[in-house]
Amino acid sequence: GPPDGRNFLEKWIEADLAPQGRCHKQKVLTRFPPEPNGYLHIGHAKSIMINFGLAHKYGGECNLRFDDTNPDTEETEYVEAIQEDVAWVCQALEMEKVKKGGKPWKNEPVYASDYFQQMYDFAIDLIKHGKAYVDSQTPEEVQKNRGGGANNLPGVDSAYRNRSVEENLKLFREMQEGKHAEGSMLLRAKIDMKHPNMNMRDPPMYRIRFSHHHRSGDQWKVYPIYDFAHGNEDAIEGVTHSICTLEFENHRALYDWFLDNCTIVPSRPYQKEFARLEVQGAVTSKRKLLRLVKEGHVTGWDDPRLLTIRGIRRRGVRPQGIKRMADGVGVSDRNSTTPFEFVEECWREDLEPISKRRLAVLDPLEVEIIDYEKEELIEGITDLPEQSASSQPSCARTLSFSKKIFIEQSDYQENPPEGYFRLGAIGSEVKLRHSYVIKLVEVVKDSSGRVVKLKCSHDSSTRDVMPADRKPKVIHWVNAKDCLDAEVRLINPLFLPMPDPVPEGKDFLSYINPEAMVRCKAKVEKALSNCVLEDRFQFERLGYFAPDYDCFTEPKKLSFNRVVPLKESADK
Ligand code: ATP
Ligand code: MG
Ligand code: MG
Repeated sequence: GPPDGRNFLEKWIEADLAPQGRCHKQKVLTRFPPEPNGYLHIGHAKSIMINFGLAHKYGGECNLRFDDTNPDTEETEYVEAIQEDVAWVCQALEMEKVKKGGKPWKNEPVYASDYFQQMYDFAIDLIKHGKAYVDSQTPEEVQKNRGGGANNLPGVDSAYRNRSVEENLKLFREMQEGKHAEGSMLLRAKIDMKHPNMNMRDPPMYRIRFSHHHRSGDQWKVYPIYDFAHGNEDAIEGVTHSICTLEFENHRALYDWFLDNCTIVPSRPYQKEFARLEVQGAVTSKRKLLRLVKEGHVTGWDDPRLLTIRGIRRRGVRPQGIKRMADGVGVSDRNSTTPFEFVEECWREDLEPISKRRLAVLDPLEVEIIDYEKEELIEGITDLPEQSASSQPSCARTLSFSKKIFIEQSDYQENPPEGYFRLGAIGSEVKLRHSYVIKLVEVVKDSSGRVVKLKCSHDSSTRDVMPADRKPKVIHWVNAKDCLDAEVRLINPLFLPMPDPVPEGKDFLSYINPEAMVRCKAKVEKALSNCVLEDRFQFERLGYFAPDYDCFTEPKKLSFNRVVPLKESADK
């Protein structure tokens, strides 16, 4: 981050709150304005963290605003899901009102569509002051006369630009009354067709749409366009700081123009931009996500392979992990792509200190301890390395040990390569975590030559202590007698590296990674049978895991998602 620890958005707000500042003694009000036309993804999470985070930091509030000014694409289904996802992400901010059972946003969620009448009145005000006109050019003419293009041509005034105020008022009312066809007319701001900023060349404010709107029904035939609507929505709500992504940087002049030229807007918000979060390999386009879900390439919007908010939630990432990621990426005024390894590192750092250590074997190989006939309990094993079982007895667990155990197939190699220090040659040794050193005595194969079992002896002087004279490699294991069957899902990137755009004739779906979810028939230690949704585990030597929803919904099935593997450098 910056040397004094504050990013440019924080400096901006602090300057406004200072004694001579614009918002002195005023409460900061930000907003998070999703369009209810899809599920939220990892990029939105960053915007949530920024908007709710800044409001929280400066003692203000944040509106959850559904930006539902486009009647064609919005659906009520998304409104519910978005509220759930925003509330979940905001848990990381530990807001007092949320701890008391409230929602993170100010009052109730708000809807841009509730302002249609006010915005219409603002438009009338601009018309009356000669600052907006009804244009009857065809869409093709409008486009052509904007100028720009490769030769950066100046725009050309519409033949309708000098209509009288009375005529504009009459035509705009007729547009709203449904007397004119869709596409036949636009209400445009009267700014400057030769303006160097294309966005200022008489931008459209209203278009005619006869679609049914999910909230206002068929009441409106004219719908405000984003650049006109957004600043008005902010002004109506009394937003003090309107934070958006960099694509809107050269729309800011227009944002300001509308607010400065309308004589009846109730407040004067200001806009600032930051770089959107682009995660390497993340598919976040609504069209693509919809295809993945609707065509069954994933199990739903919460499939743990997806980087939707509900996908990463199901995978086992915590809101605190998302906050760590957002803070780690930081606030920038330059676009960049964040490597997925960085995102994983943030999630891992979040889980490392709170994940209970457990033993799980993903690809089991049976081991018989030929010189061990008893059964014993290994007690007082703590959930976390730094805990002491005596001070926190509730954090202690018990493992059982018997003649028959399972180890990982990969911890035995028939033809061990150089530097392989696990079971290989007859006489090779490993240390079982929390238990004994065992030594390979015999390899049992079936008729096809496949290794089905190892026979080992044990060193009874080594239970949970390293021998003094040698330091065998420590491996994980489970007791065959009481371990549980579980499905362990290794989550990998959903897509193989793909060119952007994908080559002609190829579909993005052809780049789906067939190994994106590897399902292992695992054997896990007994203590995992009573896990709860909030639990996070480090399966030793394997990574960080969370119980999947399938553990808790009928028919219950013990299953775990790998949130992230262990750090590459970690001792495996
Ligand atoms: P579309 O424009 O395709 O509908 P969108 O990603 O802009 O998609 P919105 O619902 O408009 O979706 O986004 C809501 C808010 O989230 C906006 O303020 C937007 O700037 C912000 N946002 C969206 N994507 C990102 C991202 N990748 N990084 C940071 N903020 C984002
Ligand atoms: Mg959108
Ligand atoms: Mg958008």
